[in-house]
Amino acid sequence: MESRRDFLKTSAIATIGVAIPASLLSQKKTGQSKKSKAKNNYPIVVSTWNHGVPANKAAWEVLSTGGYALDAVEQGVHVPEADPEVSSVGYGGFPDRDGHVTLDACIIDEKGNCGSVAFLENIMHPISVARMVLEKTPHVMLVGDGAYKFAREHGFPKEDLLTKNAKEAWAKWILENKYKPIDFNNHDTIGMLAIDSKGQMCGACTTSGLAWKIHGRVGDSPIIGAGLYVDNEVGGATATGKGESVIKIAGSFLIVELMRQGMSPKEACKTAVERIIRKQPDYKDFQVGFIAMTMQGEYGYYSLQKGFEVAVHDKDGSKLLSSEYASK
Ligand code: ASP
Repeated sequence: MESRRDFLKTSAIATIGVAIPASLLSQKKTGQSKKSKAKNNYPIVVSTWNHGVPANKAAWEVLSTGGYALDAVEQGVHVPEADPEVSSVGYGGFPDRDGHVTLDACIIDEKGNCGSVAFLENIMHPISVARMVLEKTPHVMLVGDGAYKFAREHGFPKEDLLTKNAKEAWAKWILENKYKPIDFNNHDTIGMLAIDSKGQMCGACTTSGLAWKIHGRVGDSPIIGAGLYVDNEVGGATATGKGESVIKIAGSFLIVELMRQGMSPKEACKTAVERIIRKQPDYKDFQVGFIAMTMQGEYGYYSLQKGFEVAVHDKDGSKLLSSEYASK
């Protein structure tokens, strides 16, 4: 039976009296940009910022040996989550203004199944808890004490994530800033998209969020469609930067839908950044960066301010790329 969607598609084509070649229709479905003649480029992994380089390397070990994209993104982002030197993700993350390291993370598989945790404390690998929410519960999102209890019940150890360095930075901040404005430069989530050798895309996003945030604040990173979105009919997108601004435009979902309409990954990221500029008058005061990738492994990125970097690992090796940006 013809679905309503198919009916609308055929009748629209009939109305305008134009024969659209089947190749163009299928191209739209997979999100490949109209201009692009890109061949499949996978396996591949892309991620945000320079901590994406070692993270991609761990993901690539999975991808290059024929492994599953979901394992690749989970194992990839474990690297910054466990690295005490990375002050914006997991262990070593800067705390909120009350001195608590609270973590947000989400993961999406190739079928669109999602798992997410937010406002989670004392667990080193929130991404793995998010994966457990995806695999072991009928829900998408667990937060706070409930997420912690769930993690402990599933064997995650309780760990103190506040390192000496982070504690010192927090103590200094209290003295100097007296709970005044949030420093929007002090944040760098890892968002990661990977396509495995079977052509399946999965994504992960994990962060300790904005340093010195109000206790209880949740950013874009664990919000499906804001910090991360993956739809294997089209591709995926992930975000970093001021989460509030990304949530307001449903950033990653917006980008995937723009690619569905035929935009290239870069055009889609740029359009999302331009929407922030149009709607958020204080855009000069913060950073937002997006990465997007089609199911063919064509990727693009764009940011609001100078300084955003994107790590890529594919069969040609690893590279770190500087993003074009909008705000001059
Ligand atoms: N997007 C994250 C948040 O708002 C911050 C970041 O990218 O560093 O929580």
